[in-house]
Amino acid sequence: MAKRDYYEVLGVEKGASIDDIKKGYRKLAIKYHPDKNPGDKEAEEKFKEATEAYEVLSDDKKRPIYDQYGFAGLDGMGAGGGAGGGYSHAFTDFSDLFGGGFGDIFENIFGGGGRSRGFNSRSSEPGQGASLRYDLEIDFKDAVYGTKAEVRFSHEVACSSCNGSGCAPDGSRKTCSYCNGRGQIGRSAGFFTVQQPCPTCNGTGKTIDKPCKGCHGTGLEQKSSRVTLTIPAGVDEGKRIVIPHQGNAGRNGGPSGDLIVVVHIKEHKYFERDDYDLYCAVPISLSQAALGATITIKSLNDKSIDVKVPAGTQNGKILRIKGEGVPAASGRKGDLYIKLMIQVPSKLTSAQKKLLEAYAAEEKASSEPDLISLSELSH
Ligand SMILES: [Zn+2]
Ligand SMILES: [Zn+2]
Repeated sequence: MAKRDYYEVLGVEKGASIDDIKKGYRKLAIKYHPDKNPGDKEAEEKFKEATEAYEVLSDDKKRPIYDQYGFAGLDGMGAGGGAGGGYSHAFTDFSDLFGGGFGDIFENIFGGGGRSRGFNSRSSEPGQGASLRYDLEIDFKDAVYGTKAEVRFSHEVACSSCNGSGCAPDGSRKTCSYCNGRGQIGRSAGFFTVQQPCPTCNGTGKTIDKPCKGCHGTGLEQKSSRVTLTIPAGVDEGKRIVIPHQGNAGRNGGPSGDLIVVVHIKEHKYFERDDYDLYCAVPISLSQAALGATITIKSLNDKSIDVKVPAGTQNGKILRIKGEGVPAASGRKGDLYIKLMIQVPSKLTSAQKKLLEAYAAEEKASSEPDLISLSELSH
């Protein structure tokens, strides 16, 4: 199928200004938008064709290429994606195209349908309540071995005095007389009529003659709640735990939002963690390093672990203790890595000094040592 020239598609001259190009596209977008023409294949094709033309001619890089080389110049640039791909991108340009307040106009022209959510947040339709975020800080050890944590939070629930109706016991909800219960009023703006939420009923379509004293007619009240959470062993920093329906109450019978707990892990004085492995450092003496020794260390959960230091251990050597890391849900366990740090005595007794001098005489260390590579230092 031969493609029509983009300028011809938008009904503008070749040297048209960006404003004229926008105007041309807007006209076609309104006429052929799929929401306005459900099931009409021809309208959909026209809409895609116009959108493709607009995408190219509104783009400072693509337009000069198209002007000079035509469609061929655009091959491989992602322009004119053909079937399907076309118009999602154009939606992001709509606010630019129609200026501020496009939401209202969009509603009016393209019809509500599935898109009405978000624009009609105050209407009488049921709406889901807001989800709430709770940042929970736990100890390093609890993150490794798992724990239970109590979360106290405040959320909006249906008012207990009026059961969420917003009416006093002797009051009632009436259809709003200003908007006749539509919740929306029309305001003329150029050749459009823009729909706005009714100011009398706040878009709900109903007014309350005697509002509930407990909630002043909102139907909601703030409530403190608490839940006990099970934090699994090996939980990661930033993990989100969703507690369904513990967020704010929904409007007009809609479902409540969720409570989303985000886990933060405090640092430990001695231990660090990489995924399922734990790391710590242990001091050993000069003679333990040279002669070898068995030392006992306390693991993160206060378990005593015997560690064999081999004779001739260099500073910074890392030993791996299998299975003493983070317990994984699968039953497998990570490992514990111990870095051995040789402590050189800074004070010597006279007996120690004599022994070391005797050792030095035997050792005959060179006073002009050769260099060694830095990477040899750390194992
Ligand atoms: Zn009203
Ligand atoms: Zn109430």
